[in-house]
Amino acid sequence: MPPTTVFSVDQSKSMRDQAVPGHNRWHPDIPAVASVKPGQDFRVECREWTDAQLKNSDSANDVRDADLTVAHMLSGPIEVEGAEPGDLLMVEILDLGPCLPPQDKGDAPGQGWGYTGIFAKVNGGGFLTDYFPDAYKAIWDFHGIDATSRHIPGVRYAGITHPGLFGTAPSAELLAKWNKREQELINQNPNRVPPLALPPEPRGVLAGKLTGAALEKVAREGARTVPCRENGGNHDIKNFTRGAKVYYPVWVPGAKFSGGDLHFSQGDGEITFCGAIEIGGYIDFGVELIKDGMNKYGQMSNPIFFPGPVEPKYSTYLSFIGFSVEDDRQYYMDATVAYRRACLNAIEYLKKFGYSGEQAYLLLGSAPVEGRISGIVDIPNACCTLYLPTEIFDFDIRPNAQGPTMANRGSAAKTS
Ligand code: ZN
Repeated sequence: MPPTTVFSVDQSKSMRDQAVPGHNRWHPDIPAVASVKPGQDFRVECREWTDAQLKNSDSANDVRDADLTVAHMLSGPIEVEGAEPGDLLMVEILDLGPCLPPQDKGDAPGQGWGYTGIFAKVNGGGFLTDYFPDAYKAIWDFHGIDATSRHIPGVRYAGITHPGLFGTAPSAELLAKWNKREQELINQNPNRVPPLALPPEPRGVLAGKLTGAALEKVAREGARTVPCRENGGNHDIKNFTRGAKVYYPVWVPGAKFSGGDLHFSQGDGEITFCGAIEIGGYIDFGVELIKDGMNKYGQMSNPIFFPGPVEPKYSTYLSFIGFSVEDDRQYYMDATVAYRRACLNAIEYLKKFGYSGEQAYLLLGSAPVEGRISGIVDIPNACCTLYLPTEIFDFDIRPNAQGPTMANRGSAAKTS
């Protein structure tokens, strides 16, 4: 028996038009739409993060034109009875996946298919946006736990399915702190493309059934859902798989737990910005409370978690190294630069087998690749590594004396 569904989604409709709509900003005033007790298991259904603006097509015009002011479309908030500020909310992921029958086939991501997108530099960007400034897309089809793409032939892998984003509502004080510190960062270079951070944005706002002055307040103050923060949020940690337990700080009475942005699979770093295989679907949770847990365990600013024990099993990884030098410039211990170099090295390697740079970039974001900080003490170079499972390819990618096997490997969906 599946647990009781406390938030349901009709995948043929926008989140705005659901019987009980969700929300797309963090704000303590957004009312809870369901209530659960500690010890109770429950199911939450989710829309894909852009509210299904992206289609199962061979054009990336939808990525180029996506309205990101409506993202992320979240399910919730769900009140946990007895939760008080200072508690830790233990959330166990019991099960999750793409949409179940009768919604397992259809036009919304998660209905038997998902996508990975490279967002254009002028609309979202991504980790390698200076190298890949234009919109591209790969559609993935699901067969059980496996994903394949007509846009990246020669690859098949088991998804590491997880939620990109769950968290608790911030208190008014915490929200004000976020808005202050993020605005200070934006002020350093307000016209940067892509922006340094996203301030509150009235366009596209959804706050459940709030209207009028209450909605205007959320529109004016509500934090965008893009980054992770003290409430959890958009971690994009691929190891929140089945069996994971996450301990979220509670900032408001009832915790007001919300989330969405399910991923059929994702590599460490989710490097293309929506580098995961993005889906709508369902997720089953169990919850418990640790009263005063934030103080008891000294965790005042972040969740802690047990990774899920269920994940794809690959045994051989070809690993790419990067260190903190870029364009002949020496950076000091910069792990971001180092990981970028590791990713670019992997992309150059895969191009030698016939993939375009965009196909390789889309693959590294979505396949179960491991990213690691390997050395962070050896001045001046941080060293990061990217571990690419060789068994996901239907040809041999290992280096040998004969050199790489070049072949026609199709192309990613592009704009017209
Ligand atoms: Zn996502």
